[in-house]
Amino acid sequence: MSARRVVIVGAGHAGFHTACFLRSGGWTGGITLIDSAPGMPYQRPPLSKDFLWGKQELEDGIFRPSSYFFDNQIDLIVGRRVLSIDRGLKSLVLEGKFVVEYEHLVIATGSSPRALSVPGANLDGVVSLSTSADAVVLREYVEQARAVVVVGGGFIGLEVASMVVSSGKRAVVLEAADRIMGRALTRRMSEYFERVHRNSGVDLQLATGVSAIEGVAGVVCSVVTTSEERHEADLVVVGIGSSANDCVAADSGLATDRGVLVDTHLRCSDPTVFAIGDCARFPFDRGRGVEMIRLESVQNATDQARYVAQQICGESTEPYVAVPWFWTEQFGRKLQIAGLVDGFDRIEEDARDPDSFSLSCYSGDTLLGVESVNAPRDHIRARRQLHDLLAVGNLH
Ligand code: FAD
Repeated sequence: MSARRVVIVGAGHAGFHTACFLRSGGWTGGITLIDSAPGMPYQRPPLSKDFLWGKQELEDGIFRPSSYFFDNQIDLIVGRRVLSIDRGLKSLVLEGKFVVEYEHLVIATGSSPRALSVPGANLDGVVSLSTSADAVVLREYVEQARAVVVVGGGFIGLEVASMVVSSGKRAVVLEAADRIMGRALTRRMSEYFERVHRNSGVDLQLATGVSAIEGVAGVVCSVVTTSEERHEADLVVVGIGSSANDCVAADSGLATDRGVLVDTHLRCSDPTVFAIGDCARFPFDRGRGVEMIRLESVQNATDQARYVAQQICGESTEPYVAVPWFWTEQFGRKLQIAGLVDGFDRIEEDARDPDSFSLSCYSGDTLLGVESVNAPRDHIRARRQLHDLLAVGNLH
């Protein structure tokens, strides 16, 4: 076994920040940060925002230059996938048969976009957006495209639709559910953004799935919906959610169930292994019984990274608690969400004008979550309130 070495699998938001917090927290042992993707580790949110709009280049989105890793003695291995974990030997096998030994292991392998399983889904011009390589391809396609179909009315698909229409092109959004961003927002907020998209020129079709994608000479030309409508398309962007990258963990015998299962200290079924970020399902108590949840957000990845680094440095024994928060930008509206907005029985609205307002969701008298549009002060206040509730174990 390697003495005093933390190995982190995945150099996204969770993995990168774990390495940083370990060093800033005083960890003097080795740190190895491994990612299957080539190039310097980078942030994902700009890929569907400033990078897609052409306001930023890929190098602007890297977390830190290579000198940071050198100066902080973080061994960065990129372009090599971790193939397997031997928990008995406390070692990993990487592509190229490299073996790395660990004392502590942090799994931060993120999530991958769900694939659309309809005929034509592999045609040229059908893309999804998860990595910087995807973003480069998408930006080139968008520049050439005239008619874009977005499959899925989630955050990423709607950010893409917003950019496409704002640049004078046509966009159809097909959403199988009866509202957009339905898994994360209140119905009222979904309906507000439906109006924003429609008033801005997006052809938004709810309760509409895709039955086939058609092409000519291997290149996409149209999308056929479940209501048998045909939409012309020279670009199809698929954004139908993500699933946890939990195979390496599962293959090593760690407990998984739609994500790597961890306890209140973010430890896996083997307590020498942590799992954090998009790949992990962790217990979350809102006072109505513990739920196992998996969040896909920068906040979650970063807060969990900080917590795990503190654990490894021997600082924290309290269970992990953090207020979830998230943001998105569509047609000049910045939506920020604090807490989780499900299971409420009452909404209070605080509006300054039709495009600057907040919805506070309560269960009885207890605040569960707040959605704010162009109201950053409300968002910050909500995070503080929710933090205070969580701190006294009373978020319910
Ligand atoms: P990731 O950042 O996905 O990193 C996981 C890393 O693990 C990847 O680099 C992958 O290559 C690597 N990996 C996987 N398997 C292996 C293996 N076997 N061996 C080695 N390496 C491996 N969140 C927000 O809060 N706000 C936003 O506005 C927002 N916008 C987004 C826009 C886009 C386009 C995308 C894709 C995501 C967005 N998110 C946003 C979500 C946010 O980026 C993620 O929640 C966050 O990146 C999760 O961090 P992570 O480290 O868990 O996973």
